[in-house]
Amino acid sequence: MGLQPSLCGMVAPRKPATIAVHAGRPSREADQPLNVPITMASTYVAGGDVEYGRYGNPSWQAFEEALGALEGGRALSFASGMAAVTTVLDLVGLEATVVAPAHSYTGTLLALADLESRGRIRTRLVDVTDTAAVVAACDDAALVWVESPTNPALEVADIEAICAAAHEAGAYVVVDNTFATPVLQQPLALGADIVLHSATKFIAGHSDVLMGAVVTASDELFGVLKGRRDLLGAVPGPFETFLALRGLRTLPLRVERASANAATLAARLADHPAVDHVRYPGFGAIVSVVLPDADRADLLVRSTSLWLHATSLGGVESTLERRRRWKAEPATIPEGLVRLSVGIEDVEDLWEDLRAALDDLP
Ligand SMILES: *Cc1c(COP(=O)(O)O)cnc(C)c1O
Repeated sequence: MGLQPSLCGMVAPRKPATIAVHAGRPSREADQPLNVPITMASTYVAGGDVEYGRYGNPSWQAFEEALGALEGGRALSFASGMAAVTTVLDLVGLEATVVAPAHSYTGTLLALADLESRGRIRTRLVDVTDTAAVVAACDDAALVWVESPTNPALEVADIEAICAAAHEAGAYVVVDNTFATPVLQQPLALGADIVLHSATKFIAGHSDVLMGAVVTASDELFGVLKGRRDLLGAVPGPFETFLALRGLRTLPLRVERASANAATLAARLADHPAVDHVRYPGFGAIVSVVLPDADRADLLVRSTSLWLHATSLGGVESTLERRRRWKAEPATIPEGLVRLSVGIEDVEDLWEDLRAALDDLP
C-alpha cells in the first residue's frame, strides 16, 4: 500500500505481569463481575457449543485463556499434572519411541515405565544436559519429552537445539515447564509443540489445588488434545480452576520474589560447611542441597521450624524434603539430596531457620 503502518494503531505486546492480571476476565460491560464466577454445572441447555460438563466450563475457559496468553498458545486444563502427562502419552502410537530425561519427575518416569512394561511404547532415557546425546536419541522417535529444569536434579536442557533435532527427525516435543513457569521460560517460542504444567505447583501457588494443563500453538494439536481430554475425562473441577486462576494472577510477583530468595539462599548454602554441594540453575525458586548422607538429610528436614517438611513445591510457603525417601526417585539422585522449594517469606527469616538447622547437624 506504500504506507507505513500507523504507529498509533500498534499496541506494544503486553508483559507477563500485565497478562497474568488481565487475561481471562469477562467482557467490560456494565454490572459484569470482574472475575468469571464459578459455574457448577454438569450439563447445559442443549443447542450450544459446549453441551456437557466434561466438554467445557466457563471457569476452565477463564483459566485457559490466561495461561494460554502467558505461554503464547491455547491451553487445556486437566485434573492434575499427571492427568496431563498421561493424556499426552496416550497420543503416542503403539511401539513408538519416546525420548525422555533420565531425571524426569518420578510420576512421568512411572508412567513411561508402565507403558513400556505393557509393550505400548519404547522409552529411551537420556541425560538432558547432553544435547548431542539427546539429538542422537531423537532418531526415529515419535515424541521427545523435555523437562527443564528437571525435578529435583535441576538440570537445564537446550530446548531450542532439541526441538530443532526432534523436528528434523519427525518427532513432536513436549516441555514440562512446571519448574520455570511461563514467567521465566516460554518453550513454544523455542520451538516446542506442547507445553505441560503441573498447575498444582507455581501456577496455583498456594498448596491447596491439584491441577494440570497443556498449551499448544498448533490448532491441529489443540483439537487432538481436546479430543483426548473429552474422551479420557481427566477434567478439573470448576472451583479448582477458579483457585488456579486466582493464583495465576500473582504468578509473576511470586516467581520474582521466590527466585530472588532462592538465589540468595543458594549462594549462602554453598558456603555452609554442612553442605556438600548446591544445585541451582541460576533462576527459579527450587534449590537442591546435597548433604553427605540420608541420615543428615532426614535430620535437617525434621529440624526446621519455619520450613515445612512436605513434598510438592511452588507454594507461597517454603518446603523441603529428602527426595530419595520416594522409591521411584532414580538411584542416580544422591541419598542426601534435599529439595528446597523456596517461598515468598522474608529471606533472612528463611536463612536463619535453615542455618540453625544446618549448624546443629552432627
Ligand atoms: C508435580 C509434578 C508433576 C505432576 O503433577 P501433579 O499435579 O502432582 O499430578 C509433573 N511434572 C513435574 C515437573 C512436577 O513437579
